[in-house]
Amino acid sequence: MSKRIGLLGGMSATSSQLYYAELCRLTQARCGGLTSPDLILRSVDFAPIEQWMREGEWDAISDLLIWEAKMLERAGAEVIALATNTMHNVADRIQDHLTVSLLHIAEATAASLVSKGHQRPGLIATKFTMEQSFYTGRLSANGLETLVPAADTRDVVNGIIFDELCKGAVTEESRAIYMKVAADLAFDGADSLILGCTEVGLLLNESNTPLPVFDTTTIHCEAIIDAAFSEPL
Ligand code: GLU
Repeated sequence: MSKRIGLLGGMSATSSQLYYAELCRLTQARCGGLTSPDLILRSVDFAPIEQWMREGEWDAISDLLIWEAKMLERAGAEVIALATNTMHNVADRIQDHLTVSLLHIAEATAASLVSKGHQRPGLIATKFTMEQSFYTGRLSANGLETLVPAADTRDVVNGIIFDELCKGAVTEESRAIYMKVAADLAFDGADSLILGCTEVGLLLNESNTPLPVFDTTTIHCEAIIDAAFSEPL
């Protein structure tokens, strides 16, 4: 028997579709047969949340996500995950209101990087994730020194996430821009690349970047499935 997964998603809808596909694939690979994950997906409306982010209204975001996470817990979720990097800005506040564990995406990512001996990851993510300490602070607490693109490039990277990737739009023009950003991070001394936004794997992968790639969607899904199938203590 696996634990029931509570996935707090919709941020964006594209991201949640990637998570659901990957969680199903991993469960099937682990258990075979007709197995599928015991999972509740709560998909919220991203539009007001994205506006709150731009306006810096993190208390409003936190209040909403705490309420939604508690609903998942009440519905029987035993492992909860926030299917986005950026919303981990309020992860500690959410965890404070839960009895069950919120599986932190940056912790899972840091563990994966450290286990493979990396020390200086480049980070491609939203502006919030690249610029605020909630994410890079977690990485540095695990001994990782994070490199981010220059300010004007961060704006371009962020624009592609919200104007295209979150809407499910994939263009070769944006892929080329991201490939250049990854190459520049490698030139600046990064020894690995974190796809620190859950939609970025739509554009970048091991075959089109010069660095070992750590896709946070894949890493987070693996951590979720490991937790769901772990034995109780
Ligand atoms: N899903 C994205 C992330 O991983 C961006 C959307 C959001 O702001 O939540 O950060």
